Amino acid sequence: MKALLVKEFGGPLILEEVPVPQPGPHEALIRVKACAVDQFDLTIRDGKFAMANKTPIILGHEIAGVVEAVGADVDSVSVGDRVTSTLYLTCGHCRYCLTGRETICADFKGYLGIHTPGAYAEYTTVPAVNLVKIPESISFPAGSVLANAVGTPYHALTKRARLQPGERIIVIGAGGGVGVHAVQLARMMGAFVMAVDIGDEKLSLARELGAEIVFDASNSDFSSFAREWTNGEGADVVLELVGTATFDSSLKSLARGGRMVIVGSHTGNTLAASPQAMIANEWEILGSRNVSKRELVEVVNLVAAGRIRPIVTGVFPLEEAEAIHQRLRRQEIIGRVVLEP
Ligand SMILES: [Zn+2]
Repeated sequence: MKALLVKEFGGPLILEEVPVPQPGPHEALIRVKACAVDQFDLTIRDGKFAMANKTPIILGHEIAGVVEAVGADVDSVSVGDRVTSTLYLTCGHCRYCLTGRETICADFKGYLGIHTPGAYAEYTTVPAVNLVKIPESISFPAGSVLANAVGTPYHALTKRARLQPGERIIVIGAGGGVGVHAVQLARMMGAFVMAVDIGDEKLSLARELGAEIVFDASNSDFSSFAREWTNGEGADVVLELVGTATFDSSLKSLARGGRMVIVGSHTGNTLAASPQAMIANEWEILGSRNVSKRELVEVVNLVAAGRIRPIVTGVFPLEEAEAIHQRLRRQEIIGRVVLEP
């Protein structure tokens, strides 16, 4: 089969013929129909992710495809099923896995697309327990973005931020793959949204998806604008998809009792918060990690019902992955783009 390989960290993606992976007893072989491209793919190939420490790697953890074969012990999916997948390899029996919080599994085994051969290829293998079926009404490119680009903000806003109707939320990085779905989800939950990103194209999409107000953060801090928008109160929730570059403005934008939920930190890993300010304002700073399988089923239902629109702004062959990665590095990608092997 055709696959794109990372043969050395920091090196190019190399297109090669490799053997089709064989599913283990608990795995399914998936014919890949779409694989979304994530910022995390860049971190992995650059050698900047500690758990990705040996090559070759076939990237690709945002998967949609058709079950081509199943291992001997698999009965949850069958050949021909249309599926997408959660992203992590989890143990299935720790207290977190048993209570539907498997993304914080105590015996975490790794990631699709690092510790399994990923979906920048014609075929991939996935543990059957990760797979969720998708109906005919959801296209494969749309299906490939559900677990991460839609699921991540779904978990962050429903379980972590506990976003309430009538609250005000700021989405930092609102034009990216996770942001465009966070804006829609927050609107669906009855909140008022301020979208922060860079560039007219991203911000007009955020507005189209339901943001009440938008802010271009090219040259300035957004916190005073956020104060003005909220009549001086600050926002109830800030969803952080950017990291160190915006943490300070995000904290300054929070209302008393506000919650900052950190989902992404690709601009750096330092967070400086004043304990005094946290006490005085009863701020909550929360991490949020991806989406559980149960929540992914809910996401599939919302998308199938037309309540959330997956934003896929381009579909490209594997051969163009390198060019797509360069555009992603330059922050030029709006929503998600998808590879079609
Ligand atoms: Zn576990």
